[in-house]
Amino acid sequence: MASKLTTCFVCWNLNQSHPNTVVRFPSSSSHGLLLPASCKMRQRSLSSQHKKQHIKKASHEQPSTDGDPQPDQDRDSEHREASLDSLPIAVNINGAEQAEQLSGGQLVDMLGMIQNTEKNILLLNQARIHALQDLEKILAEKEALQGEINVLETRLAETDARIEVATQEKIHVKRLEEQLEKLRSELAQRGNPEGGDTELHAHLKRFLNDEYPPSHNESIHSLTVELNSLREENASLKSAIESFKAQLNDVNNTSERVVVLEKERSSLESALKDLESKLLESQEDFSELSTLRVECKDLREKVEDLQVMLDNATKQANQDITVLQQNQDLRRKLEKLEASLEEANNYKLSSDKLQKYNEEMQQKIKSLEERLQKSDEEINSYVQKYQDSEKEFQVTLSDLREETKKRALDGPVEDMPWEFWSRLLLMIDGWSLEKKISVDDANLLREKVWKRDRRIRDTYMACKEQSENEAISAFLKLTSSATSQGLRVIHIAAEMAPVAKVGGLGDVVCGLGKALQRKGHLVEIILPKYDCMHYDRICDLRALDVVIESYFDGQLFKNKIWVGTVEGLPVYFIEPHHPHKLFWRGTYYGEHDDFKRFSYFSRAALEFLLRAGKKPDIIHCHDWQTAFVAPLYWEMYVPKGLDSARMCFTCHNFQYQGIAAASELESCGLRAHQLNRPDRMQDNSEHDKVNAVKGAVVFSNIVTTVSPTYAQEVRTAEGGHGLHSTLSSHSKKFIGILNGIDTDAWDPATDPCLEVHYNANDLQGKAENKAALRRKLGLSSTDHRRPLVGCITRLVPQKGVHLIRHAIYRTLGLGGQFVLLGESPVHHIQKEFEGIAENFQNHDQVRLILKYDESLAHAIYAASDMFIIPSIFEPCGLTQMISMRYGAIPIVRKTGGLNDSVFDVDDDTIPPRFQNGFTFLDANEQGFSGALERAFNLYMNNPERWKQLVQKDMNIDFSWDSSAAQYEQLYSSAVARARARNTLN
Ligand code: ADP
Repeated sequence: MASKLTTCFVCWNLNQSHPNTVVRFPSSSSHGLLLPASCKMRQRSLSSQHKKQHIKKASHEQPSTDGDPQPDQDRDSEHREASLDSLPIAVNINGAEQAEQLSGGQLVDMLGMIQNTEKNILLLNQARIHALQDLEKILAEKEALQGEINVLETRLAETDARIEVATQEKIHVKRLEEQLEKLRSELAQRGNPEGGDTELHAHLKRFLNDEYPPSHNESIHSLTVELNSLREENASLKSAIESFKAQLNDVNNTSERVVVLEKERSSLESALKDLESKLLESQEDFSELSTLRVECKDLREKVEDLQVMLDNATKQANQDITVLQQNQDLRRKLEKLEASLEEANNYKLSSDKLQKYNEEMQQKIKSLEERLQKSDEEINSYVQKYQDSEKEFQVTLSDLREETKKRALDGPVEDMPWEFWSRLLLMIDGWSLEKKISVDDANLLREKVWKRDRRIRDTYMACKEQSENEAISAFLKLTSSATSQGLRVIHIAAEMAPVAKVGGLGDVVCGLGKALQRKGHLVEIILPKYDCMHYDRICDLRALDVVIESYFDGQLFKNKIWVGTVEGLPVYFIEPHHPHKLFWRGTYYGEHDDFKRFSYFSRAALEFLLRAGKKPDIIHCHDWQTAFVAPLYWEMYVPKGLDSARMCFTCHNFQYQGIAAASELESCGLRAHQLNRPDRMQDNSEHDKVNAVKGAVVFSNIVTTVSPTYAQEVRTAEGGHGLHSTLSSHSKKFIGILNGIDTDAWDPATDPCLEVHYNANDLQGKAENKAALRRKLGLSSTDHRRPLVGCITRLVPQKGVHLIRHAIYRTLGLGGQFVLLGESPVHHIQKEFEGIAENFQNHDQVRLILKYDESLAHAIYAASDMFIIPSIFEPCGLTQMISMRYGAIPIVRKTGGLNDSVFDVDDDTIPPRFQNGFTFLDANEQGFSGALERAFNLYMNNPERWKQLVQKDMNIDFSWDSSAAQYEQLYSSAVARARARNTLN
């Protein structure tokens, strides 16, 4: 708590320098309280000089309470001004309000504020006392002045009265002087014998004589008396005049004094006015003081409230102090802990990293475990297969041993006479000439005879007693089993690139076929003859002069057979003469009667094989469209003699299974009531329906899908599209083999669709293809380093259309260019993308081309720097391999075949030499954006590493060679098993 308070004051003091935030609170004490300016109660400016002076005076009279030197008056008056203006009530009120809400540490601040408030109130009281003392002094002063004024006024009145008297006397004296003058002049006129008095006396005498004749002596006497009295009177008047003169002098002096007094009076009056104005001000001050008193009262009440709150707070504080003490104990413990924690911190830092690393490692371990589990399962199935093959191998081996023994024993059979061999030769020639066997077969058999082969001897010996026909077929079996080392493989499919391609299936049929052919196997392909095929990609297309009839819907339909070569492979095209023009629809799939169309084709293909006398070792059918071949073969054609083959079925996408009402099976001749069973073709969800893919899984010797991860995914309920239980129960024959690509067709060094050819060692051509595509699509070419993001796909939900849409905007956001080539069989998706394409039709960084365009696809692969495949699920996916071959770095979701072919450059659980792209797991925008951003980051910030990555990806071998080898092995062991079984039988 103490430290908090200190912090609080330290903060205030630090803020002191800021004029707008803090004022120094004036005080005679030396505490120098500092309050935020915002704590002022009211804003009032004592600008009047009088007030300043008055306050100065009061301030001057106020003794210093702490003995500090008296501050100079101006500063003091400013401080006092501030003290009146800066009453910290707001602080206290705010503090009071807050105190109710506060607790703990904040209470500490509150206590500090209360203490400040108390100090401030003390200061206020002192200020108030000073003001009262000032007032009393002013009143006393006023009374004294009033007394002085009264005295002066009395004196003034007296002076006025005396002046009045003096004035009247002066007038009287004047009159007397006039009379006297008159008398003198009269006296002078009457002569003056003896000086004045004598003269006067003579004058008077004459006056009297004249006035009063001697007859009137008595009257003279009286006049003399009168004169004497006048003389006396005159004398007295003289003295009176003298005294009046003196008085006059006095009066003159008095007048001067009056002037002085008047001056004094006027100065007194002005002093009085001053005093009155001071009084007025004092009265104002007094009224202010009254206001202050009221405020003071309020303050007191508030202080009382605060006191109550303070008490409460004190109580609380006491409690808090107790808690604090406990806390301090705890703190001490905590400090100890912190000390050790700090020690541990360094360790923790590294342990955090370790933990993070551990978490990452755990995640990686988890993913590795998952992978391990998957590969365990895979390995188990391999082990199982291996064990099976080993058993078969042992059987075959022992067979072979026996055979070798026999051969060794037989060698060229020495114990038969040449006559025997010659007779055999003749017999064979006879069959040949009679056209009972072909010339080729005759030659093969003759060769065996010529070599004195034990088997031909044994066959002859075995059928010596049998009819000629039985003997011929026994001899022909010798020819079919020994013609060559290679296998005869027939693919029956709905697609084949480049003549009839919708997606990856077409690529696989062509690529795998070519790879098997290169390995020395006889590979033939049977396709429907679509009207919309790319006929220009078929060499030597011609119709055979035969018609094959096949059964459908209770009747036989004629089929025309066309032959030609595609990419060097022999292809048979079946053209049904059916009123519904089954493959004359201008499209490959998506027709309402697809189930009928392809079950028809499956049956017609087998019919053709039978009629053509083909003896394939392997019949390989693909996807639901030709899945019918497997049950048809075993149910109908083996009994008819087409029995040489092992059946292989590859599912390229378990989402599409060919489900229809069981009765629809009948059309192609399969018996619905026999096959609509859980262990045959019955759909696992809808029991009145049959499932073509399930039928193929059940009726095939080999079942494959297009990547190991997808093979695991479809064994689960989430990924199996309802077939997981079927796949699990047939897991011994089920395997995932990663597709390859046709490296001849997809080769930037020879690709006829490209503007400029290039390879991993010379990437200049790639940049030129990028520039060419930009020109072709009307995209901006200003920044050649701006990355081009490509996407070529069927726009179906499986491909993550919402993420593709997101990628358009995210790419723009990251400063890239985006090109999409794709079309959708789903109406609303097609419409939605048409809308987006329209929005961007004039945009210089984005182009959407909503169609199928093979040569544009090649150009986009070549131009792209990055290639996105955000699939929700992906059985294999070819576009990631094609894009890598063309130097476009794939950004893919970790699923299915993408997980088996793209390995993240930032995943250090993967050896660097395998790292080739960017992957993400969560099928959401965030997950995808993360990978896209990482790719942009590497492209923008590390061009050298990006180039190395491009070169590495272009050099990866995605050819069919290794995948074809796996198929070859599967075919061979299936054929070997069959031979072994036949031999045993
Ligand atoms: P899926 O088989 O599921 O369609 P894949 O990745 O296995 O997907 O194969 C897609 C193939 O189809 C690739 O060869 C790709 O180039 C091609 N493709 C897809 N859409 C188009 C299009 N609109 N134009 C040209 N080629 C396309």
